[in-house]
Amino acid sequence: MLNVPEMFGSAVFNDEAMKKYLPKNTYKDLKQTIDDGKPLDINIANVVAHAMKEWAIENGATHYTHWFQPMTGITAEKHDSFISPTSGGRVIMEFSGKELIKGEPDASSFPSGGIRATFEARGYTAWDPTSYAFIKDGSLCIPTAFCSYTGEALDKKTPLLRSMECLNREALRILRVFGDNETTYVTTTVGPEQEYFLVDKKMYEKRKDLIYCGRTLFGARPPKGQELDDHYFGSIKPRVSAYMKDLDEELWKYGILAKTKHNEVAPAQHELAPIFDTGNIATDHNQLTMEVMKKVAEKHGLVCLLHEKPFAGVNGSGKHNNWSMSTNTGKNLFDPSKNPRENTRFLVFLAAVIRAVDEHQDLLRISVASAGNDHRLGANEAPPAIMSMYLGDDLTEVLRSILSGQEYLAGGRPVMHTSAEVLPNFTMDTSDRNRTSPFAFTGNKFEFRSVGSAENIACANFMINTMVADVLSDFADQLEKAKDVKAAAEELVKKTVIEHKRIIFNGNNYSEEWVEEAAKRGLLNLRSLPDALPLYTSAKNISLFTKHHVLTEVEIRSRRDVLLEKYSKIINIEALTALDMAKKDIVPAVSAYIRELAETVSVVKSVDPEIEPNAQTELLKKLNNLLNCFVKKISELDRAVVGAKDIKDEAENAMYFKEKVLASMQELRAVADEMESNMSAKAWPYPSYGTLLFSV
Ligand code: ADP
Ligand code: MG
Repeated sequence: MLNVPEMFGSAVFNDEAMKKYLPKNTYKDLKQTIDDGKPLDINIANVVAHAMKEWAIENGATHYTHWFQPMTGITAEKHDSFISPTSGGRVIMEFSGKELIKGEPDASSFPSGGIRATFEARGYTAWDPTSYAFIKDGSLCIPTAFCSYTGEALDKKTPLLRSMECLNREALRILRVFGDNETTYVTTTVGPEQEYFLVDKKMYEKRKDLIYCGRTLFGARPPKGQELDDHYFGSIKPRVSAYMKDLDEELWKYGILAKTKHNEVAPAQHELAPIFDTGNIATDHNQLTMEVMKKVAEKHGLVCLLHEKPFAGVNGSGKHNNWSMSTNTGKNLFDPSKNPRENTRFLVFLAAVIRAVDEHQDLLRISVASAGNDHRLGANEAPPAIMSMYLGDDLTEVLRSILSGQEYLAGGRPVMHTSAEVLPNFTMDTSDRNRTSPFAFTGNKFEFRSVGSAENIACANFMINTMVADVLSDFADQLEKAKDVKAAAEELVKKTVIEHKRIIFNGNNYSEEWVEEAAKRGLLNLRSLPDALPLYTSAKNISLFTKHHVLTEVEIRSRRDVLLEKYSKIINIEALTALDMAKKDIVPAVSAYIRELAETVSVVKSVDPEIEPNAQTELLKKLNNLLNCFVKKISELDRAVVGAKDIKDEAENAMYFKEKVLASMQELRAVADEMESNMSAKAWPYPSYGTLLFSV
């Protein structure tokens, strides 16, 4: 029988392991660093390193690696063994405090957006003691931050940690104003729900587009997609179920709180949700989860696709970033309590988020911008590119009452009557769900739904943390001076809601009317990454990040360039893949099929010249026309790709790739899909959408 409690965290140097392997004093010092952010002395680090090594070796590790999250989006690791030579050609296993605290990977192969000149290609990784070390494939993995020789952040974790510190600082000021002298630390809590697709590995291997790009670049619609809504929460197929079971067990070993699993809307699409953790750990765990998902799939003859839009015509995948703030005394600051109207502190925090989202719509959009996610945002399945907030009936009523000065009329929560004797009645969730909203209040947390499935959630979270901290800082400036805090806070909430209520929208975000209405309200509609990214370096944003020491101006510029460049590179790879498939597989396949048809026509005629093989002739003509058109589109795409070579500016280049290259790829695809629909399945060179989506 599976002993889950015993298995849970067995690959992690967690609190229990620390207690067991560390001397009491060292444990206490390390805990202070973890819990209160106190710096760690090198002598203590030496003791910790030794204990970690002992634990790791006992658990089968021979190597260690600094595990970090460069701006490529995936995690990076470079493995060193513990061995150290002694006399007589023998070795001992060693690991020092210095090796634990600091690593020096050659940074020149990681994107830096021009921060790091090649002559100082050295980069440093620095141990993040707030996230537990763990063993993966025989290596002790030490979560680290990654920065340049001159100290600029080259990774996703550093700004996240900085933003958590700054949010803590500003939130504490607000708590103090409200007389809370007990709380010493405020942290963000994050629970990312991860969507993914599973496809058969044998089918996957037949598709260059999936192999090189993670998404299909061609593929006619299958007769059945998701229109029957029969997949969502449907019973899980045995092969998928075996995968999910294995996945849970692997994740539990890493101390990841994998909790919920179910089928998603699209065929072959599934979701995994963990129990929330602090922002930093949730981020590390999500990165690890994505890696484990892929590995476990291989074992089952499957491939896990994390791309935001692997298939056109069915839903793409996202990551719902559930976000809240909580005190070290265990209070959730976004818990509205029984009577939110009277809960002034809650209202102040709520107002801060409303204002932050309104003032920094651009940053929220930038935080989820990627070549993959662009296919999803704005399609009628995922939140639109327009940022807005959903508050639900209860909080909307609270705000109405504040603005009008009238009584708050919520009363108790409505009871849901099931009208069957045997079923219990229950109270309804006060935040009735609006699944179309990008930033929804869901009971006691906010759910940011625009994040892409393949993205590192650090980015969305450091942006949210910083913008909320910025507003809290301003609120604290005002409230700290107030004589009557409650009255001043009420007034502040009212003023904030009046100024920023345009960001609140409880209706259907997928509707055409909302696009018009949002434009009237003056909300941004940044449809693609090339539209959004140039705003990263606006005066407003530079001032925001530098004021709170989350990013320097140099770091912001580098991030903007890295993202723009990555976008252009991805579309370039996609275009080259599409061209390769078109020229090497599709054109020959269609030509061969046309020839087959032509032979049929002549064979039929040779039997009896009176017979008219109309069906074949018509199909032949049709395919021949399509093929001519296809070949023309190939040369157009060829030219579009070449045209990018002359553009030097990153922003201009990304825009070019979107408007010329991506657009041209789509035209090429349309013709290919039409040909596929008119050909015999055997003659088409790739497994069809139907096979990919329904064969597992
Ligand atoms: P769904 O959105 O699918 O209906 P839930 O609302 O139950 O699911 O929860 C989704 C996610 O929100 C889970 O990962 C859960 O751990 C996370 N979550 C719950 N409470 C908090 C919180 N206070 N802070 C951050 N995340 C939370
Ligand atoms: Mg959700």
